[in-house]
Amino acid sequence: MIGNELVTVRIRRRIVVCLGLFAGMTAQAALAADCPGNPDALGTSRTLVVDPREHPRIGAMQYAETLPLAAGEVVLTFDDGPLPKYSNRILEILASQCVKATFFLVGRQAQANPEGVRKVRDAGHTVATHTQNHPPGMHLLPIERVQQEIDEGIAAISAALGDGTAPAPFFRVPGLARAEGIEQHAASKGAQVWSADFPADDWRPVSSSRVYEVAMKRLEARGKGILLLHDIQARTVAALPKILHEMKARGYRIVHVVPATAELAATSTEPQQWRTRSRHENVAAPHWPQIPRFVFAERAMLPAPWLSDSYWNDEWLTSSDHATSPAGAMPTPRQAPWPRQVPPLLNAVNALPVPAPSVFEFRDRPRPAKATHAAGRATGRVAQSGRPVLKRLVQVR
Ligand SMILES: [Zn+2]
Repeated sequence: MIGNELVTVRIRRRIVVCLGLFAGMTAQAALAADCPGNPDALGTSRTLVVDPREHPRIGAMQYAETLPLAAGEVVLTFDDGPLPKYSNRILEILASQCVKATFFLVGRQAQANPEGVRKVRDAGHTVATHTQNHPPGMHLLPIERVQQEIDEGIAAISAALGDGTAPAPFFRVPGLARAEGIEQHAASKGAQVWSADFPADDWRPVSSSRVYEVAMKRLEARGKGILLLHDIQARTVAALPKILHEMKARGYRIVHVVPATAELAATSTEPQQWRTRSRHENVAAPHWPQIPRFVFAERAMLPAPWLSDSYWNDEWLTSSDHATSPAGAMPTPRQAPWPRQVPPLLNAVNALPVPAPSVFEFRDRPRPAKATHAAGRATGRVAQSGRPVLKRLVQVR
């Protein structure tokens, strides 16, 4: 029964995708001519204007709503920059294809390289924020620290942009380690919290070929969506030209997302276009994890979805940009105390359009049996590792 439904759904989805792709080809033909020096460019098919207040949390990986994209439409997002060595290459590749994307920039990266922020903006991309320090385990931090990270991140990007310009009110939680308090504070700033529809695993130590394969397989599985990438990774730089080329070859279309303003009204949409899980998607992904609801350490310790805090990988730490930056300009991120590599996804790339449930496992679970007796030692460890988990737990008890 389920098998038959799956076949029916897949056929329907292919019909929808085909129709969508066909409709997009006319637009793409026009776009290609609009990209100087590249008649075969992928181009940007349309701009989607969204009102963060109407849709405060988006991204199928974690939320009940995502961007209202048509079949075959893709939104590109890049996290953790600007880092000149790689971010500049990403910008060049996007420019060569006349593709617009959204960049979730880290505050201290912006302070070290403010020109890099302006390059993103001047190239016509959307500049969004991603905290000040990209803290690991953000869902475990005290709410005051969370607020500070968000506020300082916005301030740092604003300062880099200069002339009173603010970044777009789009915010992504580091490691996607969401929590209710994080989202509430982002909302209080008028910001829309972006998860993603699918990642390409480019923060993991995999080859650029693997990044390309995963990106395309997951895109094919969903038929559309928000793709999560990183502009601080060599493998992403290496994979991106092939990803864009293949998107063009398969008829996908790029959508650029910008926030609504007093002068720019939100694109007209219907509520159901934002819903993450249609009846069809439920059938295709029957084991989708429940959307978790989290609170802060002061109240309880609950698991949170997270990708990996090894975004700040060793390659970045030893990059030439880091090595040659002025003294003090680029503080070294703390090493995460837990294993720095997330286990590979289940062999379900084709079956699931999102990361497997293992991605949502809580791998940082404190050991309450010893915690009560080890308050002093735990506090010491907190100071060393920057990880307040045990300390908070002991205080609760
Ligand atoms: Zn990040």
